[in-house]
Amino acid sequence: MTASLFIDGVWTAGSGTRRGKVMDPATARQIAEVAFAETADLDAALAAANRSFAAWRKTTALERSRILVKAANLVRTNAETIAQAITTEQGKPLSESRLEAGVTADIIEWYAEEGRRAYGRVIPSRLPGARQIVISEPVGPVAAFSPWNFPCGQLVRKIAAALAAGCTIIVKAPEETPSSAMALVRCFEEAGIPAGVLNLVFGVPAEISAHLIPSAVIRKISFTGSVPVGRHLAALAGQHLKRATMELGGHAPFIVCDDVDLDAVVRLGAGMKFRNAGQICTSPTRFLVADPLHGDFVSQFASVAESLVVGNGVEDATQMGPLAHARRIDALDGLVRDAVEQGGRLVTGGRRIGNEGYFYPPTVLADVPLSARVMNEEPFGPLAVINQFDTLDGAVSEANRLPYGLGAYAFTKSTLNAARLADEVETGMISINHFGLAAPETPFGGVKDSGYGSEGGSEGLQAYLVPKFISQVGA
Ligand code: NAD
Repeated sequence: MTASLFIDGVWTAGSGTRRGKVMDPATARQIAEVAFAETADLDAALAAANRSFAAWRKTTALERSRILVKAANLVRTNAETIAQAITTEQGKPLSESRLEAGVTADIIEWYAEEGRRAYGRVIPSRLPGARQIVISEPVGPVAAFSPWNFPCGQLVRKIAAALAAGCTIIVKAPEETPSSAMALVRCFEEAGIPAGVLNLVFGVPAEISAHLIPSAVIRKISFTGSVPVGRHLAALAGQHLKRATMELGGHAPFIVCDDVDLDAVVRLGAGMKFRNAGQICTSPTRFLVADPLHGDFVSQFASVAESLVVGNGVEDATQMGPLAHARRIDALDGLVRDAVEQGGRLVTGGRRIGNEGYFYPPTVLADVPLSARVMNEEPFGPLAVINQFDTLDGAVSEANRLPYGLGAYAFTKSTLNAARLADEVETGMISINHFGLAAPETPFGGVKDSGYGSEGGSEGLQAYLVPKFISQVGA
């Protein structure tokens, strides 16, 4: 199978002959190929997004909403096909892929509703007889770049919010996981999205961003991925004065105070850490545990890690799948080796499983010095570091030490401590005493090097709108 581009309402293998390999991460075998967009294809997508914007922005919010609701229903109808495609190309267990397909539909549905509430306001005028109003207009055609860790879940946040706001969009979906992106776009196509409003491309990422971002057609950039690539694209967007949303990496602290129910927190923390084999930007990485609980926390966490069934995501028993590609194995090995060399304790895991597929075990390090690379770089894999703290001040200062600020977690029975942590941890999102991030209706985004702007919630819609001020006196 060759995964195709969708440009101006037509599925096409593009104008060139370049193709990428699509691998099954559980077997490391090639299962398909993906067509790469050439400059002519990108120009066709730009022309289509530009032309169709004139009509899409004037389509009523109600009509746009009806199309989005249809697309959400089609995603639900096709959820099993989408889930199988996610697991085969990305590796996560089918149960997680099914959840992702469900959330994908929920996100479309939520933006279908929210797009109808892109309200403006009336400002009392200081001039007699003048009417001052502010309306929200779609910003214009969007270029969006989404990553492979949630092949549908990340892509849909950009597509649904942009379309609901009245923008047209060109998305560069991940080359590693093209078929679920195609299945998602087909749902919008079948739901009646006019030709040119939604365009899907794959190719050489740097070529595509270098062509789309400077184009006069594009008014807004949205990127989800690593900090270094985000920095590069933000600079390009700045150079061409394009609005941008940057959803970048994290290094989430997970603070455990000494008054918690240890068993419950260990289970929740390990579940969050090893979900999607840790390939989540809000995955907890630095477990900071109050001194009296630290020893028990480490041993219980390690037992949960060792009990997880690692295997091919299509098998029912599997609780954690392979990593999405081979380069993550080398990255994780390097972080573990460095941590141990610097005096950290390897409690469990830390060595690739087998020679077939990209399997890495749930890995736990304890008592790792701050100088170790893993304490400073996002591991983006099934690797937990469990260190201890003496005072809440110390935990807060460790949480805030890094330039990241995306997700954070804290567990305590004290409302005073909870309030302090909510106030003092420098982060875009904090979840206290449960795992409550990333719902369709709540903002998702970071501070500091984790980026700027929000996806999700009404903030996610605002990212695709611009205010227009109108001041009018009677004719
Ligand atoms: P990477 O930095 O090579 O790529 C990250 C993403 O950016 C990929 O989807 C890639 O296609 C895209 N990309 C790369 N160069 C680009 C360019 N010049 N223009 C446009 N898009 C470009 O990293 P990787 O090895 O694929 O992934 C690992 C790292 O990526 C992790 O360390 C993690 O920090 C980050 N990541 C973050 C998220 C997230 O949800 N924030 C998701 C996936 C990956």
